[in-house]
Amino acid sequence: MSPRRNYPKNRKSGGDDEYREINPSNQSFEEDEDGLWVVRKLTGSAASKPYRCPGCDQLIPMATPHTVAWRDGEEDLRRHWHTICWSKRHHRRPKKF
Ligand SMILES: [Zn+2]
Repeated sequence: MSPRRNYPKNRKSGGDDEYREINPSNQSFEEDEDGLWVVRKLTGSAASKPYRCPGCDQLIPMATPHTVAWRDGEEDLRRHWHTICWSKRHHRRPKKF
């Protein structure tokens, strides 16, 4: 047994971040042929209702970590995506866009 206390440097998997829903570091920009997108990763803890993912047309259950994205300047049109669906959106592009 080591007497040293071993603090993990990377605590991403810990619960400390669960309540930090609005964290600028969780937000990024992605540019594609449709324009510049603002992409925000949500932990899901602040979700108060299920959202329908435009990528797969399935509901995202409450309190599920997911991705919110909108075109820059169109935050009113933001959509909630499964994180995996957002990353795959170019493979199964919704016709609405
Ligand atoms: Zn989805």
